[in-house]
Amino acid sequence: MQSTQSNTYDIDGFYADLVRHGLIIPTGIQGGYGRSQVFEDILRRFNDLVTRVAEPDGAEEMMFPPILPRKLIETVGYMDNFPQLAGSVHSFYGNDAKARELSARIHAGERWEDLLDITEVMLTPAACYPVYPTFSGLLPNGGRLVTVLNWVYRHEPSDEPTRLQAFRMREFIRVGKPDEVVAWRDAWLQRGLTLLKGLGLPVQSDVASDPFFGRAGKMMAANQVDQRLKFEILVPVISAEKPTAICSFNWHQDHFSAKFGFRNADDSVAHTACLGFGLERVTLALIKAHGFDPKTWPQEVRAQLWP
Ligand code: AMP
Ligand code: ZN
Repeated sequence: MQSTQSNTYDIDGFYADLVRHGLIIPTGIQGGYGRSQVFEDILRRFNDLVTRVAEPDGAEEMMFPPILPRKLIETVGYMDNFPQLAGSVHSFYGNDAKARELSARIHAGERWEDLLDITEVMLTPAACYPVYPTFSGLLPNGGRLVTVLNWVYRHEPSDEPTRLQAFRMREFIRVGKPDEVVAWRDAWLQRGLTLLKGLGLPVQSDVASDPFFGRAGKMMAANQVDQRLKFEILVPVISAEKPTAICSFNWHQDHFSAKFGFRNADDSVAHTACLGFGLERVTLALIKAHGFDPKTWPQEVRAQLWP
């Protein structure tokens, strides 16, 4: 498939070109730009294609708001592993006098955040998290398959157009017997590669690890690689040497089933796995591969996204 784009990679240049072509809208927030209608159209069309490809599996769709109970963040161990990425929601609980002080401090250009207190919610860092607590007790025979799409938040401000603080993940979550879950993950890895290659993206897959915090985190990451618990599908977007992960596959083993107490129909230990397409990253990878105007993209790509 012929590519209309050059094979040069330049983070600032790519960002500037995306703005110049009206695809993204700067907001002054690093990793928090707006998306134009054309950008959104590509993103939604890709998501629709995923829905069509996955249709025979009959996944159950769920939709959650982009906030989670603080308690759930604690239960899944997010603050033990990724405190640097967390986003916490605070609000004002004070009286009239405190409200006047808040307002006066802001207008005087002083700091005011210490007048806020924590709420019961945090921002969702992975679209699949709200799904696990919905499983309880014994699962049906054959387990369950769920799909979600959500905005997620990660505190990793950056000028790279592919590294956002808020972005969307389309996820599938499989729960069942260990061999069922692994077979599902392996099949989707091939399916994902075929789907993305079919869209003219020069993808490859590799074992991967999560950005666990600190020195202890290095061991967790090494262990994750040793056990081949995480795979990614990568494609060059802003660098040839360091391709960007556009889809991730995670096998959590019994991490979530142990925490939320669900088991297989025969009372054996349930495993979970999820896969997530980073929808903004897929959109940017398509733009990088085929050009800033989707009307000029190769016909075989357009036919799949705009059927
Ligand atoms: P993860 O849960 O970290 O494996 O992320 C799932 C998918 O979300 C990745 O494969 C990426 O496509 C996407 N993703 C992760 N972090 C970011 C980010 N900071 N900005 C945009 N997309 C991201
Ligand atoms: Zn997930």
